[in-house]
Amino acid sequence: MHIVDPVCGKHINRNKAHMVVTYEGNEYYLCCPLCQATFEREPEKFLRRVRGERKVRIRR
Ligand SMILES: [Zn+2]
Repeated sequence: MHIVDPVCGKHINRNKAHMVVTYEGNEYYLCCPLCQATFEREPEKFLRRVRGERKVRIRR
């Protein structure tokens, strides 16, 4: 089963994930130390994207 890394959006194999973080009772799989550090800095930013709306766009 594949899951999505909330930080980079990559599909990763559950067994090959760098690590699992638990945040507000949910588990999130991260592919690498860099994604882990990024996630921990601003978890809400990424969770909003995961929870939901695919229409969300990144504005510049
Ligand atoms: Zn990643």
